[in-house]
Amino acid sequence: MQEHLSSPATEAALHDAMAAFAAARPMTKALHDRATEVMPGGNTRTVLFTAPFPVRVEKAQGSQLTDVDGHSYLDLLGEYSAGIYGHSHPRILSAAHAALAKGLNLGAHHEEEVKLAEVVTKRFNLDLVRFTNSGTEANMMALAAARCFTGRKKIMPMHGGYHGGTLYFSHGASPVNAPFDCVMGHYNDVEGTRALIAEHADDLAAIILEPMLGGGGCIPASMEFLTMLRDETAKRGIVLIFDEVMTSRLHPGGLSAKLGIEPDLKALGKYVGGGMSFGAFGGKRVIMDLFDPTKPNALPHAGTFNNNTLTMTVGNVAMTEIYTPEACVELNARGDRLRNALNDLFMLYQVKMKAMGQGSMLTIHPMSGDVTSPDDVEHTDKNLKQLLFLDLLEQGVYIAERGFMALSLMVTDADCDRVVGAVEQHINKRRELLV
Ligand code: PMP
Repeated sequence: MQEHLSSPATEAALHDAMAAFAAARPMTKALHDRATEVMPGGNTRTVLFTAPFPVRVEKAQGSQLTDVDGHSYLDLLGEYSAGIYGHSHPRILSAAHAALAKGLNLGAHHEEEVKLAEVVTKRFNLDLVRFTNSGTEANMMALAAARCFTGRKKIMPMHGGYHGGTLYFSHGASPVNAPFDCVMGHYNDVEGTRALIAEHADDLAAIILEPMLGGGGCIPASMEFLTMLRDETAKRGIVLIFDEVMTSRLHPGGLSAKLGIEPDLKALGKYVGGGMSFGAFGGKRVIMDLFDPTKPNALPHAGTFNNNTLTMTVGNVAMTEIYTPEACVELNARGDRLRNALNDLFMLYQVKMKAMGQGSMLTIHPMSGDVTSPDDVEHTDKNLKQLLFLDLLEQGVYIAERGFMALSLMVTDADCDRVVGAVEQHINKRRELLV
């Protein structure tokens, strides 16, 4: 399929919106110019770059961001789903202070890591868990564990899947990916992927996917697809890995628990560490036991900060006192209401826009019709996404440029109404570009 080409009218509207963005942000521009002297493109995290130059935040509180030019935004990005607690939650602050006061880099085991392991294994139904510093590392270690466990080399990610900076499979594999030998599956293509699994069964160590594509556009996996994967992997001794770095927030026990499909290993990350750097992988005892250092030939798993007291302590408080199962259910119901309200709006105005997702994670795509795979959204008009992003910024609402939003616990129903209103204003302003 060809990339959707923008109309000249869309290009002109985007040009004007970028000019208005830049004109209102002289301090942001100056800081961006400074940044470009010392970081390539002024950037150290690719996903945050937006043209003509990105927003630079001065301070954040609750659900609000304030940029270096003094503009305030409702934070609907929620740090790509990691920022579930909002900014400077008082209980997160007090937990962090307590951890700092007790000692940060102990170079030793301590109780908080045991507590967090107890919390996480119980909540996400894991026999055993190990901690990492990021979701990327968690997935890398889960894949390595699967390869050692099976004695096989190949892995099967899905086209359009994202599992970290070195495990990025959108628009073809990223050139900076870890050099795994990959057989690419097709998300929600039951028979095509079943055939691929059969063809490579003897060499496949693992299949890795998100039960709903997060960064890939908030596209849920069908039950039929997941059931096929569970059956085929069980039959053929392939390790099934669910990357729940994002999706674990969608249900108290993670999305796999909601769907009733248990993989062999799960990767966790983001919000579980209370907003600190965090990752974890865990699952079946027979696989995780490979890392038991009391066993001969145990697999090594290093990481200076794997059990750092800041993450462990704050994570415990966050998961047991703040993101309780009840809070999780409530937040996801709010997200469902927002997604439904947006889709009602798109229907009312008959525009080519669609909100995909589940619960507290959603993505607005500039298209209508069915979305079941990353192919369906890959070629939508990027200029329209950028225009929505800039129009919402103009109205004080911050989302990802790709249309992704993740609600934090600080976002209220009234805030959601405000978002719907801001999107309605975008539609009214740009209607002829959206039909
Ligand atoms: N897996 C998924 C599904 C993710 O969304 C992300 C982060 N966006 C990662 C893995 C990587 O996590 P991290 O950024 O902590 O390395």
